[in-house]
Amino acid sequence: MERHEPAEVQSEPAWVALKDDELLKWRICDLRVSIAGSELEPRVAQLYEELAARGLNFRPACYLGDEWFSPEGMPAIAIPFYLAHPRLKTLEMHQMLEVEGGTPQWCQQLLRHECGHAIDHAYRFSSSDKWRVVFGSPEAEYTPETYRPRPYSKSFVRHLPNWYAQAHPDEDFAETFAVWLFMPPEEWRKQYRGWKALDKLEFMNSLMEEAKTKTPRKPRGRRISDASKLRKTLERYYAQRRKHYAEDFPDFYDADLRTLFENGQPNGEPAARTMRRNRAALVTSIVRWTGQHKYTVDMLVRKLIERSQKLGLTTPAPPDQARLAFELPAYLAALVTNHLHTGRFKRSV
Ligand SMILES: [Zn+2]
Repeated sequence: MERHEPAEVQSEPAWVALKDDELLKWRICDLRVSIAGSELEPRVAQLYEELAARGLNFRPACYLGDEWFSPEGMPAIAIPFYLAHPRLKTLEMHQMLEVEGGTPQWCQQLLRHECGHAIDHAYRFSSSDKWRVVFGSPEAEYTPETYRPRPYSKSFVRHLPNWYAQAHPDEDFAETFAVWLFMPPEEWRKQYRGWKALDKLEFMNSLMEEAKTKTPRKPRGRRISDASKLRKTLERYYAQRRKHYAEDFPDFYDADLRTLFENGQPNGEPAARTMRRNRAALVTSIVRWTGQHKYTVDMLVRKLIERSQKLGLTTPAPPDQARLAFELPAYLAALVTNHLHTGRFKRSV
């Protein structure tokens, strides 16, 4: 029997009730999502409140794009369109296993970071000589996926994971701005006392004093990757991103896998089954401590499982079982971290 929906749910877009494979056929521009009325609206409002609280009259224009970024030279922030509706967040989770900026706190962190790029675009701070002395040359090769961070460095603030401030002078500026915006001066002065990063925060403070008296540049030109104009289907969009995140897996693990599963019992549980059983916990802890994309880590673990199955590896008996439980995640975290530093895995915001 056909049932009629109550009138109020009809205001939801037609695609909300679709299954993933049907939704994937939709073009991004046809979704007609917007920041207004979505959970992003209060997030952007909070960013504006934080800027006002620090005495700034700069308010970056925010629009829906295909990922997190601030367009080069534009005082604006692009927010990924999938954050504008819970159904699209679910699809993103199914396709990419995580939703970047999907929680209020994470979203706010990314907004502050992108606002750092946007305010630099608005006032062109990075064209000054002093900026170069403090942060380095903005013309430095932009390859944020290949940086080699020094985890204990006190020359950089800590905000996004992976010591992201060390990726490039522009990222250092954006991260320093994010900390400056988030904390009142007495708090960052206390937290970074004795750190070289404090000089950057003090310089940021003086730049922002300057900004209070100046008029920011107006956003001009075309909005890059504007979601309302993206004609590709969600299917195509995800195929491209998955390809981008999964490329260049190393293929030298056979020897490592044999070492990890050495002393495997002839009739023991297949190594592949042991890993498959623990896959979710394994992936979660590696993502937590490396900051790498969940999709990338999941693909890596899947590939290792497949490989150990081909090699016919089995799980050893105790006490080797306990050794394996510690060594396997340590090995995987090292693999992911090494590849982060050599640029095989990509992460940039
Ligand atoms: Zn950035």
